[in-house]
Formats: sequence, C-alpha cells, structure tokens
Amino acid sequence: MTRTLTLLGATGSIGASTLDLVRRNRDAWQIDALTAHCSAAELAALAIEFGAKLAVVSDESCLPELRDALGSSGIEAAGGRAALVEAAARPVDMTVAAIVGCAGLAPVMAAIERGGTIALANKEALVSAGEMMMEAVSKHGATLLPTDSEHNAIFQCLSGNRMSDVAKITLTASGGPLRTWSAERLHAATPAEAVAHPNWSMGAKISVDSATMMNKGLEYIEAYHLFPVGLEKLGIVIHPQSVIHSMVEFRDRSTLAQLGPSDMRVPIASCLAWPRRMDTPMPALDLAAIGELTFFPPDETRFPATRLAREAIRAGGSAPAILNAANEIAVAAFLAGQIRFTRIAALVEETLARSNDAPRPASLDEVLAVDQSARLQARSLLETNALV
Ligand code: NDP
Ligand code: MG
Repeated sequence: MTRTLTLLGATGSIGASTLDLVRRNRDAWQIDALTAHCSAAELAALAIEFGAKLAVVSDESCLPELRDALGSSGIEAAGGRAALVEAAARPVDMTVAAIVGCAGLAPVMAAIERGGTIALANKEALVSAGEMMMEAVSKHGATLLPTDSEHNAIFQCLSGNRMSDVAKITLTASGGPLRTWSAERLHAATPAEAVAHPNWSMGAKISVDSATMMNKGLEYIEAYHLFPVGLEKLGIVIHPQSVIHSMVEFRDRSTLAQLGPSDMRVPIASCLAWPRRMDTPMPALDLAAIGELTFFPPDETRFPATRLAREAIRAGGSAPAILNAANEIAVAAFLAGQIRFTRIAALVEETLARSNDAPRPASLDEVLAVDQSARLQARSLLETNALV
C-alpha cells in the first residue's frame, strides 16, 4: 500500500538519508511536499525525481530560482515561512521533520496539530518547546517517532515495557572528534577539525554540537521530554565506537540496548516502517570485526555542555529554549571564524545567566519570542568580547 510522505529539510543530511530509503522503495511512498531553506536547484531536482506535489523554500527570496528550476514540471512551488507551515499542515501519512534548528518548530507544530505521524530528527524544536510540544502531541492524538539514533534506540528498547519499570535510561555518546584533546588544544580547535566526526556523516551544525557535546546536552533534554522517567534516571556514557546507540535498564537489572551501524538510515527506516521493519542497504553487524566496545564517563570540565543542559532542565521555564538559541548563535559564529571553540559553551552559559527567569512558554508564539530574545542577548555578548 502506498503511503504519503512530506519531508521537511529535504536537502540536508537526514533528508538525503530519508530519500535514499524512499528511492529504494519507490512503490511504498508518494511524496507530497519537499522543503528546503534556499537550496532551490537541489530541491527542484529532488521534487522532479520523486514526483512531489509541492516544493517549498522557507526563504522567500529563493522562490524565483525554485520556480525556474521546476520549469514545466507542473510541481507547485511556494516560498516563505507561512508557506512552510502550510506545507507541514497538509494531510499525509508520515512527516519527516529534518530541518535544523528552532526554525523547524512551527512546521513540526503544524504537523502535530493535524494529528499526524511525525518522524522527528529536528531535536532543537523539541528542546525549545518540550512541554508544549508533548502536550500538543497528546491533545491532538499525534504520533511522535524519535528519529535521533539514541532516542530511536530507547524507543525500541521500551517497546512492550512499562515506563514505571524503567530504572535508568543511558544515552551513549561517541564523544566527538575532539574527545581526547586537552583543554588548551580544544581552545584552538578549528571548524574543519570540529566537523570531522569519526563515526557519523552529518550536517555542519550537529557536527559542531557533537564536538562540544552540546549534541548530547540537547539529546538529554530531548530524552527528558520523550521518556518521562525524571532527570535522575537519565544518564550519559561515552562509547567511542557508536555501536550501542543507547540502553534502558529495568527494575530487575535487565538492560536492553539497541546496536547497529552508525548510519542514520537505520533509525530513519525504523520510523518509516514503524511498527513493522523494512530493509536497509547496510551490511550486517559484525561484532567480531569491531572487536571492542569501550565506555567512559563524560568529562564535564573539558566539555561543559551536558552540565548546562542538566541545569537548564532543572531551571525549567524558558531555560532550555534559551540554551538552544544561544547555542545556535554560538555555533554559527564558530563556523564563521568569529569565536573560538571553547567560547561556544561559554557563550551559552553567559546567555543563560543574563536572561531573566521567564515562566515556561505556553504557546508557539511565546517560545519563538524567547528564542528571538535569547538570540539578541547572545549576539550582543558576541559583539562585546568575540574572540576571547
Ligand atoms: P543539514 O544542515 O544537513 O540540513 C538542514 C535542512 O534544513 C536543509 O534541508 C536546509 O535547507 C533546511 N534548513 C536550514 N535552515 C532552515 C531554516 N531556517 N528554515 C527552514 N529550513 C531550513 O542538517 P542535518 O540533516 O544534519 O540535521 C537536521 C536535523 O536532524 C537537526 O536538528 C539535527 O540535529 C538532527 N539530526 C541529524 C543527524 C544527522 O546524522 N545528520 C542525526 C540526528 C539528528 P537548505 O539546504 O536550503 O539550507
Ligand atoms: Mg543523536
């Protein structure tokens, strides 16, 4: 049976992995909408290849280029943030949410509000709007399938179990490309060094997040909302081989883990086929060839991001949204050569310290207002002591 699918963030790394799976199962899927920010030519080529009904660029200034590239294909084109939200609100069987950053929040909420099934890779949306998003999921009867590899692993381990029997959920972290670097060396890490992830091939922003460990910080907050066992039952362990994607220990001291190749097509396939399974092109897991799985505690002195995330969960209110917004600004500044690597977490911490304790944002507009004001605060801190 053919199912309809909308892919938000089609031109990115998760977008490409999703479309690779769809390409191998063409009869199973009918693409409704594909979206990008401004990669118009790339988006048009994908829309034509997959016979999409609608292609949307969220940056409206890129719409003429999209129209040109779509030519006489008959595919509808649209541009701007409202058009992106409208695309996400169209009824489909599955929405893959693969936009990077809080920019993906409004379209994800639109998909949730129409009670859709959403494969959520866009962790920043959930971090910024945790409680509000989870409430909307239950209010509108939406289904949220965690696509982030750790959360997908936990989701699989929890299947058939009761949340009240969970003793501990442990997120694994590769530790990123700079895991073994000294504090002095970290200070001078370049963008090229930070994005050179040893196990995963990903977009630039999440690659930097992996190097700072903010990716694990964001995932901590993500797990806190997706699997409500309480902060004290959530842990992190460094596992450089990225073979175990996360694990759940139950009250009887039985631990279930999900293992697999470090390729996002595996968790994406688990969402696309859910509650069944589908083939992926990945080779079988060869543990004898891998040889060794190792584990270490996180070092929050060199990598303070997971501490900041834990503090943001404890502080509650708008702190997670502020943490996320400041991190987006800091990562962009680092990639642009404006700040040093170690300033990323420092800027997040300073932005949190200077932001007023605001109550938990209760609506999409309130979350977006917190996000905007935290971005302004982070930018003004950047201007005062950029390269320190
Ligand atoms: P990429 O940077 O590769 O792709 C991002 C996508 O979002 C592109 O299609 C891009 O369009 C679009 N986009 C960028 N900015 C905006 C905006 N302001 N408004 C609307 N669309 C926008 O990111 P990834 O695929 O690596 O990551 C996507 C999400 O998935 C992130 O939240 C990330 O944390 C999460 N994730 C990614 C993993 C991975 O392996 N890559 C693993 C686990 C989670 P354009 O090309 O036009 O810029
Ligand atoms: Mg992950």
